[in-house]
Amino acid sequence: MEHHVIDKIYIDGEFVTPHGTELFDLFNPATGKTIGQVRLADEVDTEAAIAAAKRALPAWSATSKEERIDALRRLQNAVAARRDEMFDAIITEFGAPVRNGFMADSAIGAFADMITTLEEFDFTHQVGKATVEMAPVGVAALISPWNSDVFFISDKLATALAAGCTVVIKPSEMSATQTQVVTQALHEAGLPKGVFNIVTGRGDVVGTALTRHPDVAKVSFTGSTAVGKTIFREAADTLKSLTLELGGKSPSIILDDADLETAVTGAFMAGFANSSQACVAGTRILVPESRLDEVLAVAKEKMADFPSGDPRDPATAIGPMVSEQQWERVQSYIRLGVEEGARIVVGGPGRPEGLADGYFVRPTLFAGVTNDMRIAREEIFGPVLSILTYRDEDHAVEIANDTDYGLHAYVFSSDLARARRIASRLEAGRVAINGGYEPLSPFGGFKQSGIGREYGAFGLEGFLEPRSVMV
Ligand code: NAD
Repeated sequence: MEHHVIDKIYIDGEFVTPHGTELFDLFNPATGKTIGQVRLADEVDTEAAIAAAKRALPAWSATSKEERIDALRRLQNAVAARRDEMFDAIITEFGAPVRNGFMADSAIGAFADMITTLEEFDFTHQVGKATVEMAPVGVAALISPWNSDVFFISDKLATALAAGCTVVIKPSEMSATQTQVVTQALHEAGLPKGVFNIVTGRGDVVGTALTRHPDVAKVSFTGSTAVGKTIFREAADTLKSLTLELGGKSPSIILDDADLETAVTGAFMAGFANSSQACVAGTRILVPESRLDEVLAVAKEKMADFPSGDPRDPATAIGPMVSEQQWERVQSYIRLGVEEGARIVVGGPGRPEGLADGYFVRPTLFAGVTNDMRIAREEIFGPVLSILTYRDEDHAVEIANDTDYGLHAYVFSSDLARARRIASRLEAGRVAINGGYEPLSPFGGFKQSGIGREYGAFGLEGFLEPRSVMV
């Protein structure tokens, strides 16, 4: 990819030069070199985007279900037509391993899934003598992180539009190249102007302007718990509807009846997903005390299946960290784990052998971890996994739930009835048994992992207000 300057934002159906003038460097994390710059939007641009969304709201909120399905189909096709270009930007700017094609495919899938949801969704129902109409909440602000840029933009947009809302999207400034490609695709779908607007800028500038603005009725945010709390406070004055998808410290519970080869591989897949730059990463691996030695023997071997390296090498499972700052942060947690008395089984500080440039981390597995250590309590957002031991089922559930978070959990067992019993005791928005997955099921967190749910009908309801009409 050539050095590029992104100097357009998308407002009212057009690519326009931002009023903001700050330039922000974009990097290739595999080399540590700059690949370009993005010119950031400011408060004036945010105002213009909100005004455009507000103008477009009456007509869009009055569209029929069929018209919305048709629009989503056009968006889906437009994004599908740019799939390879999107994926290339994801590899270059985020460092996703080339085997992770789902990072682009999921953006296309987000529209397809929302079409399925919409087809089956009833916008009115009867409660006694009342007709309950599910009305769009209004102009929505969609604020997304850098770790899956095109997917978050597509998923939040598909859901908001399906509800009849118009939107202002504020993607992360660190993923501006990916945003540019997906914005071009979305523009090509030819939706009415102002229905969606995309304004890349700083969180404390554009993000704050959105969360405070009286004409914004809803904020759907994905990102860190710290920023989620700020948004919660900022949105209080105008009492906005909020969906907050925040961090996690998800447990992978390996039950004593599990086939260890399969379970350890499954736990590592959950832990190293998206180069561990994933809110759903299963970073605490809970194993029965009685099988610890066996687990460690298998784990040492299986770590070799998750090499870190050049994202364009098909053998690579774990790409670089997105930025130097994230690299430093992960290094500090590896040092902290040692200081806290945990034992490194595989990996450790520094870069992997032969990778002197870029933000690569050695995939690291700690054993001897207790749940009071900071490496077991704080989200690291890098390939650093911890093995903790439990005595019995009750103890496993106790450790799993002993966290501020509650986004996801993973259970591995050869006894499904037993695994289900454990699952129903876990404080987590999603529990995957032996790698189970359902994209239309609600996604979101208990406790400090967030508020509300995304995806499917639950996600759609997040952009709707019930209006009871009684005669
Ligand atoms: P972040 O919270 O720093 O930023 C997320 C977005 O919020 C960015 O667009 C940022 O510019 C914006 N922002 C920052 N300050 C803001 C403010 N004061 N007001 C409004 N917006 C503001 O997160 P990140 O570093 O981009 O992403 C990593 C984090 O995201 C991790 O903690 C991870 O767990 C979380 N995450 C959660 C989910 C989920 O669905 N639960 C998914 C992916 C990532």
